[in-house]
Amino acid sequence: MNLMYHSITINADPRPASQFHRNKYTVHVDQLADHVRRCEGQDVVFTFDDGHVSIHEHAYPLVVNRVKTILFISLDFVGTANWLSAAQLREMHGRGVAIAGHGCGHLNLASLPAAQLKHELEHSRRGLEDIIGSEVTAMSLVGGHYNRRVLEAARDVGYETIYSSEPVAGVTRHGLHGRVCVYWTTTGDEIDAYRQGRVSRQMQLAYYLKRPLKCLLAERVRRKHSG
Ligand SMILES: [Zn+2]
Repeated sequence: MNLMYHSITINADPRPASQFHRNKYTVHVDQLADHVRRCEGQDVVFTFDDGHVSIHEHAYPLVVNRVKTILFISLDFVGTANWLSAAQLREMHGRGVAIAGHGCGHLNLASLPAAQLKHELEHSRRGLEDIIGSEVTAMSLVGGHYNRRVLEAARDVGYETIYSSEPVAGVTRHGLHGRVCVYWTTTGDEIDAYRQGRVSRQMQLAYYLKRPLKCLLAERVRRKHSG
């Protein structure tokens, strides 16, 4: 099972860690420590999306050498305020934390014209490879958004493994690696179920029902911003 985190806080009351993170995505450091304890030695991958600086400060010391970890990094954020620096990415990569793609500007890939889509995928991959000095062959889909065009373009530029936000254990029918999102409300019992590959039908149903609405909203935001 693949778990999906975003940012980590030491504050009892989770506050938004960035413009992209609503409260529910920010997990308390004690929760993460508990999740690592529960999943150590199991077939569980801890993934962190976007590249918030709290990953280096609070998550990295807990996960390093204990659980398999992948960071999905949006290239344009690297080295800017509140986000991981190139040096931090190199340091964590050197200690066995995998670095993978998450686009350049954190854009909904399914909404982009072909040239911009290719740039988001290819430039982000090359940029991360330059930073860590080794090949990048995995990525995750921003906001979980994709269509056939996105998957074809991603595979064309060399991404062999693509992670989605679909709460399923294993690989989806489109060949994507599912992930279950961990929220600040996620309980230890739920983590125990996830590590055994169990996701409730209710959660899956909620995800697949909400997704068309999410895509529609993302498209509206894009239209608004592109005038
Ligand atoms: Zn993201």
